[in-house]
Amino acid sequence: MLKEKKSTALKESPGTWYTRKDISYIFTARGIKDDRLNERLAVARIFPFKATEHVLSLINWDNYKTDPIFHLIFPQPEMLSKEELDQILNTPENELPEVINKIRLTKNPNPAGQEFNRPVLELEDHEEIVDGIQHKYEQTVLVFPERGQNCFAFCSYCFRAPQFWGGENKFSERTPERMISYLTQHKEVTDVLFTGGDPLTMKASELEKFIIPLLENPELSHIQNIRIGTKALTFYPQLFLNDPDTDKLFSLLEKITSAEKHVTVMAHFSNPNELKHPDTIKAVKKIKSYGISIRSQAPTMRNINDSADIWAEMWQLQVKLGIIPYYMFITRDTGPKDYFEVPLAEAYNIYIKAREKVSGLGHTVRGPSMSCSPGKICVMGIETLNNEKVFILKFLQARNPEWQERVFFAEYDPNAHWISDLKPAFGEKEFFFETELKEIYDKKKEEFSHSLIINLSFG
Ligand code: SF4
Repeated sequence: MLKEKKSTALKESPGTWYTRKDISYIFTARGIKDDRLNERLAVARIFPFKATEHVLSLINWDNYKTDPIFHLIFPQPEMLSKEELDQILNTPENELPEVINKIRLTKNPNPAGQEFNRPVLELEDHEEIVDGIQHKYEQTVLVFPERGQNCFAFCSYCFRAPQFWGGENKFSERTPERMISYLTQHKEVTDVLFTGGDPLTMKASELEKFIIPLLENPELSHIQNIRIGTKALTFYPQLFLNDPDTDKLFSLLEKITSAEKHVTVMAHFSNPNELKHPDTIKAVKKIKSYGISIRSQAPTMRNINDSADIWAEMWQLQVKLGIIPYYMFITRDTGPKDYFEVPLAEAYNIYIKAREKVSGLGHTVRGPSMSCSPGKICVMGIETLNNEKVFILKFLQARNPEWQERVFFAEYDPNAHWISDLKPAFGEKEFFFETELKEIYDKKKEEFSHSLIINLSFG
């Protein structure tokens, strides 16, 4: 069971967790005088900090400043600009909330047009927007159960930080009723992905309330695959081994497989060091022994995994453990991305060099992919065509299914980090999907305002 850090004893259980106020203690307990402590504390006012004893045990504290897991968890001063840092350090405590809010809003809190992924639920006498669901790709619906909008620890680069800040940018669904109604109306959906945050921070008995209807309701027999997005295998693998909730969790997972539905744990491993702890290895083996598959995805991040050797080692370890390498992403356009981002061209070279180092079993990974507003766009190659150096791009998933698998070209730019940095190649004025994307957004805006008016009239 997770418990908040209360004592100053170093011997804590793996699930003991620490927050921003414990950062100084974490260093002093290890005899370290961190020369950038004040800046780290300032950064932790903007980006949430949380660590478990387990994840702290993965850090090589003798060289912590270059340790990838330290970068994965701990605030780094360069995650903010000098002006932002000065502002936080020089603002009196009672005025800080306003400053924090302002800085956070400059960090593109909900990238890739996520607010437009919220679907409109048609009810008998009105329509309403479902805040805790996203439906972007035809077959897959994302569900954000309210109690799962937390994580065992927080990644420093978190691309879903507003889930922990609270406020209007948060996606969350308190109970399963609207999920059930929406899915009943959408027979094209085959996959439900529970995400967050981390849905496994919920008690199994709470998660069950969302999952059991997908197994038992005859109106939902089109739902074939249940995915659970979690970073527990890195932050708290003991959840699968010896937590008070372990048995209930596995009994829930067994109910899913007994109902002949497929379950996949969508794991998030950013560095091979996350995969080497004996408890993680045991947990992976146990999950797989229940007939559950595990797929792994992560973004390419500076100081955490910005080399081909790191990705190759990670994919090799994953294949050895029976985990399917799934996606290599580009750093999302949100939060402290300036600090972590790797240019598209560099990420592509990391990807192809890493692929060369692993056997075909590791070639299941797709990438490097931008999970952006039009869809998941992959860099397929860098070539010279008609005397022009170009990126070859392809939709792996698309907001409009007709775009899927389409290949298109952008001018090569070694400094480009995201689709918005790219220009169409061969003198084209815009990418083939841009006009249609604008139309989709205009329609969504209309739908949303219509729903609001109708709701108000019933309010
Ligand atoms: S596991 Fe995902 S949601 Fe949780 S902190 Fe990391 S990036 Fe954010």
